[in-house]
Amino acid sequence: MRAPARGLGVAALGELHLVHGGCACGGVSYACEVERETCNCSCDLCRRSAGSAFQSWVNGARQSLVVRGRTSSWQSSAHATRHGCAHCGSPLFLFERDAPDVVEVCAGTIAAPDGITGARQAWIDKRPGWGRS
Ligand SMILES: [Zn+2]
Ligand SMILES: [Zn+2]
Repeated sequence: MRAPARGLGVAALGELHLVHGGCACGGVSYACEVERETCNCSCDLCRRSAGSAFQSWVNGARQSLVVRGRTSSWQSSAHATRHGCAHCGSPLFLFERDAPDVVEVCAGTIAAPDGITGARQAWIDKRPGWGRS
């Protein structure tokens, strides 16, 4: 639900590369073309759904997303829906109502994130001291 993605069209995405990933239990796997830069978001929803100081997102092209396995979803705000594994609950994706061409992928679920470099920070004022370095 980070603000920068709102209204983002696929044309606004940077260079894309194909990644594979999945949830903790292995029940869901996916492939997606994503950007190379993540965003670490510490908003209330990201902290709570990640169970950690922040959730790391990377933007991808929604049309490239292929998912295997059963997911469940919940509407986390008026403009965003979050999807995770229906069995283990691992958070996986977020869809913004106003950015229909974009999927936000939970970067920690990417199997071999070699192409991922750097990170932007969002809602850093909400990040607990133990989550800062
Ligand atoms: Zn799972
Ligand atoms: Zn957030």
